[in-house]
This record gives sequence, C-alpha cells and structure tokens, in this order.
Amino acid sequence: MRYIEPHGHMVSRTTDDYLDMVTAGCAAVCEPAFWAGFDRSSSDGFRDYFRQLTEYEPARAAKYGLPHYCWLCINPKESEDVGLARDVLALIPEFLGRANVLGIGEIGLNKNSRNEIRVLEMHVDLAARENQLILVHTPHLEDKLKGTRLILDVIRSDSRIRPERVLIDHVEEHTARLVLDRGHWGGMTLYPISKCTPARAVDILDVFGSDRLWMNSACDWGESVPLAIPRTAIEMRKRGWSAEAIDRVIYGNPVKFLSQCPRFSVR
Ligand SMILES: [Zn+2]
Repeated sequence: MRYIEPHGHMVSRTTDDYLDMVTAGCAAVCEPAFWAGFDRSSSDGFRDYFRQLTEYEPARAAKYGLPHYCWLCINPKESEDVGLARDVLALIPEFLGRANVLGIGEIGLNKNSRNEIRVLEMHVDLAARENQLILVHTPHLEDKLKGTRLILDVIRSDSRIRPERVLIDHVEEHTARLVLDRGHWGGMTLYPISKCTPARAVDILDVFGSDRLWMNSACDWGESVPLAIPRTAIEMRKRGWSAEAIDRVIYGNPVKFLSQCPRFSVR
C-alpha cells in the first residue's frame, strides 16, 4: 500500500509516528499551519512556527526518507485579532519560496465571526497575488454548513481564484455536494472524535464518487490517529473496493491536486 497524508500536524507528533507512517506506506506528508493548542502572543511566534514548518520538520521527516510539505497562514482560531493577522500575513511572502511550501492554508472560519471573514478575505487575496494553492478548514459540528457557505462565497467573490486550485477540508455528508458543485476539491477528516469515522468516509465516497475527494488524518496534539488513512483503506478493502480504486483515492487524488504546485513531487 502507498498513500499520501495530506493533512498532519506533525510538530505535535513524535518521531515514532513518522516511522509508523513510513512503515504503513506513506509517500509524503503535508502539514497545514494551525493552532498550537494555545494563542501565540505576537507575530514572532508565527515566524518561529514557519521556520519549524519549513526547516526543522522536513529535516525530521527526511531521516525516514519521507518528503514533508507545508502550508502557511494564521489559522482561524487566532484570526479574531485582525491587527495580529495583518502582521502574520506580512511575514508569509518571505517563506513562500521555500522548497516545501505548497500554498496558503489551513485558512477558513472557526466561529464564523466578522473578523474571521475579514482575515479569510486577506488570505484569499494573498493567495491570488502570489498565485498559490489554497487549503481551507471548515468549522465543526453545528456551524459547519453555515461556515462552509460563507467560505465558498468569499472564494467565489474573488475572480482571480480558480476553483480547482482550492481544497475545502473536513467535508461531511451535508457539505460535500456544495463543495464539489463549486468545482473545488474536498477533504474528509478521519478523526476519532467530532469528525468522520472510516465507515462514514467510505459511505461519502460511495455517494459522491471519488473524483475530487481525498482523506486525511488531521493528526495533531489532540486525540487523533496518524495511521487513519491506511486503516480506512482496510475498511475499503473489506467493502469490496479494488486495490486500484483504493490507490486512486489515497494516493492518486492527493498527487493530482498537490501537483498543481510545482514544488510538490513524489518519487
Ligand atoms: Zn488541521
């Protein structure tokens, strides 16, 4: 089995997790910029974080022959402070040329507030000006549908953004259709609490098709499973999916989307 982990917060994981992922067939891992579990006190904290994502983490993964990529932004949870967000956005261009940077993400909404929407618009503008791919986080639980609609409208209102260069993450049964109909890609997050189980993710693939969907573990500092993708592949096999069809979802699809960034390559 081979697969891509398109969404893992590896700064929060142990080196043993890297070894387990490579053993299970992981061919590349991609790490979106996210909340650290606490609010950072200034933009300097983000500068250090971006160095961690572009220097130290790829070096840690390389010890196991695993290519490590990342996305940069200020995450929605810390976007309430528009002044801080402006300072962090000003830092990002100096990192965009680094060898493992895929684009802007994971941006989006957390509580669907006015300030979060303003900061989302600023990120979309930055991605358009710098010709970057976009990875979007959608809020969880009861705000997901409303938040997804708000996000899709912000993206559509910027005519410079091509829909196929945007992946909307954490889609579920009630948001997948909206995302795919706008021409975007969708990500399903396999998480033991609050997000998709392997069985639900495979149901979503059965209903909506597998053309523009991928799966990720979103493993982070919380209760999460770095091997969620290979475990879901076992569920797919049990339900009669062929080896080729599984490979297309867990390897081919992420390679197709991510290869729109010229820096992405897998051996
Ligand atoms: Zn995440």
